[in-house]
Amino acid sequence: MNTLLRPLAAACALAAAAPALADADFARCLSELRAQAPAKGVATATFDQHTQALAPDMAVVGFLDAQPEFTTAIWDYLAGLVDEERVADGQAMMREWADTLAAIEARYAVDAAAVVAVWGVESNYGRNFGRRPLVQSLATLSCFGRRQPFFRGEFFTTLQILQDGHVDPAQLTGSWAGAFGHTQFMPSTFMRLAVDFDGDGRRDLVGSVPDALASTANFLARAGWQHGRAWGIEVRLPAGFEAAQAGRRNKRSLTQWQAAGLSRADGSPLPAGNDTAGLILPAGVDGPAFLTLRNFDALFSYNAAESYALAIAHLSDRLRGGAANFHTAWPTDDPGLSRAERREVQRLLIARGYEIGEVDGLLGTNTRRAIADLQRQLGLEPDGRAGRRLLELLRRPG
Ligand code: CA
Repeated sequence: MNTLLRPLAAACALAAAAPALADADFARCLSELRAQAPAKGVATATFDQHTQALAPDMAVVGFLDAQPEFTTAIWDYLAGLVDEERVADGQAMMREWADTLAAIEARYAVDAAAVVAVWGVESNYGRNFGRRPLVQSLATLSCFGRRQPFFRGEFFTTLQILQDGHVDPAQLTGSWAGAFGHTQFMPSTFMRLAVDFDGDGRRDLVGSVPDALASTANFLARAGWQHGRAWGIEVRLPAGFEAAQAGRRNKRSLTQWQAAGLSRADGSPLPAGNDTAGLILPAGVDGPAFLTLRNFDALFSYNAAESYALAIAHLSDRLRGGAANFHTAWPTDDPGLSRAERREVQRLLIARGYEIGEVDGLLGTNTRRAIADLQRQLGLEPDGRAGRRLLELLRRPG
């Protein structure tokens, strides 16, 4: 759960800019932080233990200000996050952890499918925690860049977590911004909301699936989750609908939306009632439209992006056997690709001689630059996008 924008993987790094100067500044900054540690609840011995021989990782400072080089359409975003693989993996996890999830649902009144969907999107069910040592990233961001006060708080909190023995220090890696564990909590979120569900006395969001899933359920419960309720309703807009009426926070009752001419996407009437909902149009008035209820807002609070909340919401529906496609199609004739298809794109690019690094199904900057180069050669718009048409084009020999 990043509170920050996630730039595309491997965005430009300011990296090696004057390393010697950075090292000297970093040493000075660390000694300042060391002096503050006891007042922040961190013993000097703890501070020393985890910062000995620490070098800054200047790449994370680059991520802080990186602007995505390429934009991502909502249908591409969802095609990668909610694909058959993630649905099948999530359903397997729901079976494997059925007893734990039932106990979590009983205690926190949060639907298991929503918790598992967060897990699937945040770390691919524990397969991808992020590789950067948390202490190093947060110490660097505490000393360089434009959000040092925020990151200093996260840094000291991380040291408290280690001091209290919740997480194995060797396993404490995460995103460049400090989100870690199965469901990618920031350290401050850990302090507020992490729970020990397996009863070993540690709140271990890295080593314990029960702790991580229960902590996520606790987060969603505090964010106002309503057990057993839908996150939203896909709707059909009346002809001539003014897009200006949309907005997640522009709440009206279902009865009011009904009066405004909205129906369910299949044309049947909306349920009446005083439940309030916002309206989101992720691809404008010509794409799928959704009334979003309170559970959508709870998901939004996990990571403040409507596309993110929609991905979790849709994955949770699919884990319960819901349909793959929304009723209204995305307004494109060139649909997005699953991760399996993205890996195929990457293999085909490599076969054409592009050096794009690892075949990981993630369309990072290297892959997208290679695609843009190929598009240029073929006289196509070089948008760096991997869609259905590009895949079919790559599959053709030579
Ligand atoms: Ca525990």
